[in-house]
Amino acid sequence: MERKDQKEIKILIEKEIVKTEQIIVDYKELTKPEGLDSAVGRVSRMDAINNKSVTKAALRQSEDKLKKLKYVFSLIGKPNFGLCVRCGNVIPIGRIVLRPESTHCVNCAR
Ligand SMILES: [Zn+2]
Repeated sequence: MERKDQKEIKILIEKEIVKTEQIIVDYKELTKPEGLDSAVGRVSRMDAINNKSVTKAALRQSEDKLKKLKYVFSLIGKPNFGLCVRCGNVIPIGRIVLRPESTHCVNCAR
């Protein structure tokens, strides 16, 4: 069995990859080391450091997501793409885009 909406998924994943790459560029800009030393006063300096670690965590998450998206993208067109590895049911598009790492349908993932 092969799902019929692979083209649609491909477009959506592509969009998501572009979006995620843009987010990564933005995060990288925000985590650049310059600017920290010139922050005025101790409090704003601490704020800057805190914000930076939050941004770094978000950056890591986005990089992780990008890897998964690219992996899923490489699977499009393969015979069992987008099918639950356990029951063989079609995994909804929304789930694939949101959680590209999911290899199970919602029921089997529980
Ligand atoms: Zn299943």
